[in-house]
Amino acid sequence: MTATLLDGKAIAGQIRNELATELHAWTSQHNIQPCLAAVLVGEDPASEIYIRSKRRACERTGLTSQLHRLPEDACQSELQSLIDTLNHDPAVHGILVQLPLPSHFQEPTILDAINPLKDVDAFHPENVGRISQGRPRYLPCTPHGIQQMLHRSGLKTSGKHAVIIGRSDIVGKPMAMMLMNRDSTTGAATANATVTVCHTRTADLPQQTRQADILIAAIGRSRFVTADMVKPGAVVIDVGMNRADEGLSGDVDFDAVKEVAGYITPVPGGVGPLTVAMLLYNTFLAAKIQQAMP
Ligand code: NAP
Repeated sequence: MTATLLDGKAIAGQIRNELATELHAWTSQHNIQPCLAAVLVGEDPASEIYIRSKRRACERTGLTSQLHRLPEDACQSELQSLIDTLNHDPAVHGILVQLPLPSHFQEPTILDAINPLKDVDAFHPENVGRISQGRPRYLPCTPHGIQQMLHRSGLKTSGKHAVIIGRSDIVGKPMAMMLMNRDSTTGAATANATVTVCHTRTADLPQQTRQADILIAAIGRSRFVTADMVKPGAVVIDVGMNRADEGLSGDVDFDAVKEVAGYITPVPGGVGPLTVAMLLYNTFLAAKIQQAMP
């Protein structure tokens, strides 16, 4: 069996086009230009790439973006003061602090300092809490992109067994909450899953992953998921982005797993472009929420 490819690049393009059309009408009506302020500390090459692609996507869709740079040796209070300024700037609707921060920063304190209404990454405890209660304001971009991809590919999660490898605050945990919730931005069919979350202490991981109708790998280990870990016909979503001298690879052994899976995402061109598209979605949503406030 050769799996059907889930083309994240094409689906992200579709979402960006829809956003651009809606955005054009909304900006003409309200005379407000939704704006994303990105904060980059230091010069990590991967972070530079991510920020560049996010800003380029903003431009292509008609959103304004700002880039605020701080040097590698900036201190916690400098970054907090920049966030405070952005929190109070009415022209800024979304704030994104590119992670990871250099190790001397207390990342949770920084993320907590972002105004939850401008928290377009949805990492603030208020926004995370709302997701866990099934009444989200913003959804984290990567899991939301995955839900959009499933929906737009006609794949349902309701009643299915979803197995997630990884329990990070950015991907694994919110993905689990969103899939087990009763509803989603794409309807109940892409929620209501029975969810298993695996991590380094999971006993007999292949035995768990072989139960998955939908297998989501967010591990950060190149080609970790092998064909014998996948149930025939399963939907396999590869979140991994592992950079090495030989190039970018995912967490799934694509060539082997595509012979077993029913559907599979490539790396690159799978989940990554959707993450960026959903950041644009959140920035526009943030502008709409702030515009509607008294
Ligand atoms: P993370 O915070 O490092 O979390 C990795 C998770 O994988 C942890 O929960 C860890 O378990 C688990 N894990 C690691 N080795 C394992 C093993 N041998 N067996 C079972 N579980 C294992 O990573 P992340 O931020 O979620 O990112 C994961 C990957 O996705 C990375 O490659 C990252 O670059 C990529 N990513 C891509 C996008 C995108 O847009 N495509 C977005 C975000 C992240 P423990 O908790 O027990 O340590």
